[in-house]
Amino acid sequence: MSDMLSRSVSMLERLVAFDTTSRLSNLELIDYARDYLEEMGIPTRTTFNEDGTKANLWATIGPEDKGGVVLSGHVDVVPVDGQDWSHDPFKMWEADGKYFGRGTADMKGFCAIALAMAPEMKKRNLKTPIHFAFSYDEEVGCIGVRGLIKDMAENLPLPTAVIVGEPTGMKIIGGNKGSRGLMTTIRGIPGHSSEPHRGVNSIMYGARIINLLETIQKELRENPYEDSPFDPPYTTIDLGIIEGGTAHNIIPEFTKFRWGMRIHPGDDGEAIEQRVRDYIENELNPEMKAFSPDAGITMELVNVVPPLIPDTDSAAEELVRYLTGLNQSGAVSFGTEAGFFQEAGVPGVIFGPGYIQQAHQPDEFIERSQVQECVDFMSKLTDWAADNG
Ligand SMILES: [Zn+2]
Repeated sequence: MSDMLSRSVSMLERLVAFDTTSRLSNLELIDYARDYLEEMGIPTRTTFNEDGTKANLWATIGPEDKGGVVLSGHVDVVPVDGQDWSHDPFKMWEADGKYFGRGTADMKGFCAIALAMAPEMKKRNLKTPIHFAFSYDEEVGCIGVRGLIKDMAENLPLPTAVIVGEPTGMKIIGGNKGSRGLMTTIRGIPGHSSEPHRGVNSIMYGARIINLLETIQKELRENPYEDSPFDPPYTTIDLGIIEGGTAHNIIPEFTKFRWGMRIHPGDDGEAIEQRVRDYIENELNPEMKAFSPDAGITMELVNVVPPLIPDTDSAAEELVRYLTGLNQSGAVSFGTEAGFFQEAGVPGVIFGPGYIQQAHQPDEFIERSQVQECVDFMSKLTDWAADNG
């Protein structure tokens, strides 16, 4: 095993051992990475969540007065609760040329390889800086990276490109759909089920909204984008959680459901949301409030993630194509932080080791060959950054 590969693997083992499930603090991992980088003389910056329990880490190798290339990744992982793991998910193990553990593919692998490469990058007196951007709470809606990008945009020279290392099997992904998440809360009027005319059934009203969502979905499906790189080639509606009622013989007072959209670039998620709001305001709320002013429906916008709009001529695509020799780029339907960077003026691609099929699964793994491919890529990037400024 090459030296850099074995260093990357031990770093991955170290990172997997920090349980950074999104609901927990990630400070131990961030402190570890920051100390490791600062001991080498690599300057870092941290930005925190409101209560100071989670942090993003930014590091710059090379000149600090230039834009450069960002390697961006999240260090939080999805929960292992209820999953059937054959070993301890936070103690990496190896079998058949694969490294198993929570986060190996999504996406501590990429972060570990970058960290393992840092001494080499530091030694080379880079002309173009390479930055690390490690963020928290990606898995719960790309939350952490927003503070990191704000800090970057306000205080640092604007980078020329970002590589988001989500697992793409080391293929270039140039676009991702955006998303919009909404919580709908329906308050009815309770009563005995035998007297439905004396109450307002919140589940029934919820069903009418969901019915509209289905109609919208059908319209979107029937009008796909031609030549779209996305699968499916249209905006989709998702409905993930619903709660309502307390007993079969009580008119349910409260119903709540969480729904959202995965927005195809070019579509207007806000307009879809407004159509649902109009239906509630013009039809449902007047009906409910005619029965009782206490009844009614509210809808809260919980989360918005911008799309990464494909741009095959961008500096990010050009660089990764040049370094890898790849000449094609695809698109994915899941959200990443790349759209936030794009909004801030930094073009990006999604490009990283491992496969999304293993992400979020029990016995998640990354293949050794994928780690090696990423090591090779980062070596080429380092050579490039040492020679070009
Ligand atoms: Zn991820």
